[in-house]
Amino acid sequence: MSLLVVGSVALDTVYTPRGELLDGLGGSAVYFSVASSIFGPVHIVGVVGNDFPKEHIEKLKMRGVDSEGLYIADGKTFRWHGKYGEDFGDPETLLTELNVFADFSPNLPRKYRDLQFVFLGNIHPKLQLQVLEQMDSPKLIAADTMNFWIERELDSFREVMKKIDVLIINELEVRMLTGVRSIFTGAKKIQQMGPSTLIVKRGAYGSFAITGEDIFVVPAYPTDNVVDPTGAGDSFAGGFMGYIASKGEITPENLHLAMVYGSLVASFDVEGFSIRNLEKLTMDKLNERLAKFRQITDF
Ligand code: AMP
Repeated sequence: MSLLVVGSVALDTVYTPRGELLDGLGGSAVYFSVASSIFGPVHIVGVVGNDFPKEHIEKLKMRGVDSEGLYIADGKTFRWHGKYGEDFGDPETLLTELNVFADFSPNLPRKYRDLQFVFLGNIHPKLQLQVLEQMDSPKLIAADTMNFWIERELDSFREVMKKIDVLIINELEVRMLTGVRSIFTGAKKIQQMGPSTLIVKRGAYGSFAITGEDIFVVPAYPTDNVVDPTGAGDSFAGGFMGYIASKGEITPENLHLAMVYGSLVASFDVEGFSIRNLEKLTMDKLNERLAKFRQITDF
């Protein structure tokens, strides 16, 4: 599998109605890589500080994540603190500390440059662009972002949008990027900004994809055991891109099953803090949910 991800590697402090986690392993690139690794090896680009526990890097390696592009810099690891309300909806961000990400400028390992599938995870858009500049000619580029970057770095994110094939964002971000309240109207507007496919994540309500005039809708897998929704979006993207990269091309059929896998992988993520559930995920468990998913969506 020829897959690269750049994004945040973090120590997260998370408060949810089911408990709290202090300085746990998190970050967009971490959730994405562990989620996609179910389909094959994935290569990560990011930076951590010298306070980052070594065992976290070992955990990633155990899942087949290549960490040659994960740099260790002098300073503190990126930190994010978030708090979820009773409905487990969008979290309130209590703190974002960029730390070593503030002046990170990656020099990609040579062997990363000809990778075919690229995911630009949620991180500074300038960093997303720097990674793209060093790639030879990827077959498919997907990206994510967050309100934090849309508010501060909109111009550079517009540059990113011109260069990508698939944008995977949530409803709030669609509204922020377009100023339009209706997400379907907003989605059409975003297609004119660059990406030919837009995937809109709607939390517990599932997701939909728009390619040209085609639309495909996928529910979230119903679970009554939500513990911590952090990383659900990145896990969705990991399941999605992992499946596409393992197939080697994006056909309408692959796109549909990739979205279903994204939805299923995300359902495992939300059932535990940090990557606790994802790191134990097996293909058997995933396919068990796939069979159930077929049952509940068939009519
Ligand atoms: P998700 O719940 O899928 O949106 O992703 C949550 C992850 O995003 C957490 O593990 C955070 O460490 C990370 N995160 C939060 N804010 C930012 C930010 N501004 N830039 C990059 N990563 C972030």
